This record gives sequence, structure tokens and C-alpha cells, in this order.
Amino acid sequence: MALNNISMQKCSLCLQNDANKKNTHYLTDSIIRTAINYEGLNEREKGFYFNMPLNNSFVDFNFQRNTPIDKIEDAIERSLSDDEIEKAKKVPFSVDYVFCKDCENKFTQIENAFVSNILTKFRKQDLSNVEHQLISDIKLFLIFFLLQIWRTHICVNYFKLSESVAENLRKLIWQYPNVNTIDLKKYPMIINYLETLGGDVAYTSNYVGCMNTSNRYVIFMNDFFITFFDEDLSYKAYIKKYRQDTDFNNYELYINIIHNESRIQMLESIKKQKRDKVIQYCVNQINTIWGNYKNIQPSENEINKVLNILIQNNNGSPLYYSQANLDSSIESIIKSMA
Ligand SMILES: [Zn+2]
Repeated sequence: MALNNISMQKCSLCLQNDANKKNTHYLTDSIIRTAINYEGLNEREKGFYFNMPLNNSFVDFNFQRNTPIDKIEDAIERSLSDDEIEKAKKVPFSVDYVFCKDCENKFTQIENAFVSNILTKFRKQDLSNVEHQLISDIKLFLIFFLLQIWRTHICVNYFKLSESVAENLRKLIWQYPNVNTIDLKKYPMIINYLETLGGDVAYTSNYVGCMNTSNRYVIFMNDFFITFFDEDLSYKAYIKKYRQDTDFNNYELYINIIHNESRIQMLESIKKQKRDKVIQYCVNQINTIWGNYKNIQPSENEINKVLNILIQNNNGSPLYYSQANLDSSIESIIKSMA
């Protein structure tokens, strides 16, 4: 869509220039690329990914322009609708006309510095005996992850910081590098690195997605897993409840390593939670659709029968249905049982 200068919005970072930049990645491309590329290849525009909005039951998927459609259909075990193909052709995790070229350059400087000074201590390193990796450039470390949190807030409608927190982050990013480390430490974060063993293809099992509860914000960014807290109190409560085993008093000094086995367990457990939510959704839909067709409610036996056919039709997994696909499948199974 062509935008003329009169209607162009102002850049969300500087609030001054026209938002004239297209294709700004709001999650750093060089971090997420290996998770979203077919077979984990480190190449642009050749891959597909599963976006898992963690507070939603349905798996959204996307693919990049050079991925063969049959590869995607093999992976998700169903055919794609035309709408899905159109939607999926968009460049993932990027936005047009939200930022200006100057601010994009600022982002790139932070991201490039992170990739050359910090990322190299994690990817393709032997971390088998490492529990925490100490960080020497704390300022760069903090600004890089705050940038991911803030840009996701700007670009994703279901990931929202409070206005005052977002404005504080905007100023810090805008003023960087002329900011004090103590100001960057105002909001606690836990950064985990997911040790990913098994070659390039293993990265495609990692997630890219985000969620937020009232005061905790989570971003899965391939092999990095960010938890951000908008206040100290909720951070302390979280540590007390879930992470008593670890000293998080100086969270800004290191990245916590989650080893490969635990990574696999963690991703499986998220998948299971989503699977349970999808099953619950199916039961509700079966009740409604059955009721509409037959004017009576289905018995437990009948519900299970529909559920079994549904799962069998999809190689034992209800996870890779889209919502529309699921609704129409339930409907046709109930019709066939009439
Ligand atoms: Zn700008």
C-alpha cells in the first residue's frame, strides 16, 4: 500500500520523523532465523515457522517465500487454505511504517553489537558444564533484551505493557548509549539460554512467540527465553514461587543456561498445555454443533467418539488444526454420524 507523506504516521521511537521504514523486524532476525527456517538453515526467506501465541489455543503458522508448500503440508499434516497461504507469505515478525530509517539504524547497531559480543558466547559453544554465563557488557545485554520487549509491545496487539513502562523503555532506547546502567536495571528480567543440541534442524523445534499475564511478560525467541517484570514486587514473588534454587539477586550479570534435556521437556510441557486447551475447545464445540444438529446433547461416549475420529484424522495430534479447520472437521464428523 502506498502511503504519502501527509498521511504517514510518526516513528514510534523518536516520535519526530515519518515512519518511513518498511520491513523492520521486531524480534531480531539473526536470533529467530534458525528457528523459523526449514531445516534450520541460516538463510533468509527459506523456511516456515510455528508462531505459538501462548495464551491462545491455536497454532498459527507462517512460512517464508521460498518454502515449498508441500513441505509445510507434510509438517502440519493437513492442506493449506488459500487464505492461509496469502497470510503466510508476509515476512514474519516484521512491520512496515512503524519506525523511521534513523531509528532502524539505531536498532541495527545494538543488534550487531549483541551478535558479535554476546551471542558468540552461547551458540555453538560447549555449555555442558555451565549453569550461568557471566556477561561483561551489562549495558549492551540489558538494552538488547529491553529492545525486544518494547518493540513487541509496539507491534503485537496481545502483548501490552502499561503506558508508563512503555514510555520509560522508549526513552531509554532512544537515549542509548547515553543512559546509566542503573536505569536499565529498573525492570527485572530473567534471561535463559536454551542449549540446543542436534545440529541446525534442532533449532526448528524451538518456539518464537510471546505472551503476557498482568505483570509478567514472556518472549520465546528461538534459543533465548526472556521473562520481563514491570515491577520489582512481582519479580520477587515469582522467584520465591518458582526459582528458589537460583540466586537471582544479580540477574543483570548473567544468562541462565537451560540444558538440552530440560529444553526439550520445557517445550513438550508447553505443547501439552496447548494440546489440553485444544481438547477442551473441541469438547465445547462438539456439544454445541451436536446440539444444533440433533436437538439433544451428546453423551460422553458420543463426545469421545467424535474426538477420537478427529485425532485419528490428524495423525494423533489435534495441535496442528487451525480454528476454522477444527470447526469444519467437527461439523463433518457429526454429519457423517447422523
Ligand atoms: Zn525514529
